[in-house]
Amino acid sequence: MLISLVVPCYNEEESLPIFYKEASKIAQQMGISHGADFEFIFVDDGSKDRTLQIARELHRKDARVRYISFSRNFGKEAGIYAGLKAAKGDYVATMDADLQDPPSLLPEMLELLLSGEYDCAATRRTTREGEPPVRSWFAKKFYQIINKLSDTEIVDGARDFRLMSRKMTDAVLSMAEYNRFSKGIFSWVGFKTKWIDYKNVERVAGTTKWNFWGLLKYSIEGIVGFSTAPLLMAAGLGLAFCVLAFVGIIIVVVRALMFGDPTSGWPSLVCIILLCSGVQLLCTGIAGEYLAKTYLETKHRPIYIAAETEEDLDAE
Ligand code: UDP
Ligand code: MG
Repeated sequence: MLISLVVPCYNEEESLPIFYKEASKIAQQMGISHGADFEFIFVDDGSKDRTLQIARELHRKDARVRYISFSRNFGKEAGIYAGLKAAKGDYVATMDADLQDPPSLLPEMLELLLSGEYDCAATRRTTREGEPPVRSWFAKKFYQIINKLSDTEIVDGARDFRLMSRKMTDAVLSMAEYNRFSKGIFSWVGFKTKWIDYKNVERVAGTTKWNFWGLLKYSIEGIVGFSTAPLLMAAGLGLAFCVLAFVGIIIVVVRALMFGDPTSGWPSLVCIILLCSGVQLLCTGIAGEYLAKTYLETKHRPIYIAAETEEDLDAE
């Protein structure tokens, strides 16, 4: 039984050796307890530090370590995709390099899959300790909104740390879309998932790659990727304004017929024009966002470009 650990790494020179040490410990334990073999797949997402060199060294020392190095930064989602594609395991786990996803949970997760009842063991954090309160608030709102808008359930606090069966991994890989929102994709493919709760762990070294704008863009990506409700809402808004305008016309005409036509009220007219053009721009923007995603999707660009893998190193 082979277990693949897929680890996207972007500028993780400090965390990577620590991760390798921790994961090896667990691998050894599980080798004894479950007879499991491991492979570690480090996806170097165009790091600007020594992440790639470290991955190379680890591969030279330990054949279980494999790596893919991207030609530039393609983002974590692309990293996960590349790793899953390369994984040969019967069971495949995705996890962060910063040990925020504790490898010590792996035995428990494997037990769940081995019981035959689940295809996936996923984790969700119950606390958001060590995170700015503003960010937690926005995160909570995001989950509320997306779950109202989308039929695909996006679990609050879900991490990308999960162990999947081969079947589910293949299903995820079959979704070769360019705009990837993993939390949605994992949920969309279905399969029986068992959620394991754990407390938030802070990263062992290095810093987080997320800033506020990054997260905002990511959340819009999620909504556009897994719901078309905003388009319907735009249409609804348009309809409401038409009805309002129609009622307004009737009132104006009737009033003019009954009381004559005094020319006044241009300030209110300006406000109405501003409001209407604002609503129009908003709706065009929403439609444009979907168009943009469609545009990128139809280009069929590769999700990532690998510049080097461990096979290149072996061939040298
Ligand atoms: N990561 C990546 N590409 C990126 C950004 C992040 O591969 O462009 C990796 C990063 O190295 C880490 C994981 O994604 O292993 C999660 O990143 P981070 O810890 O910064 O996010 P957080 O845990 O704060 O959500
Ligand atoms: Mg992290």
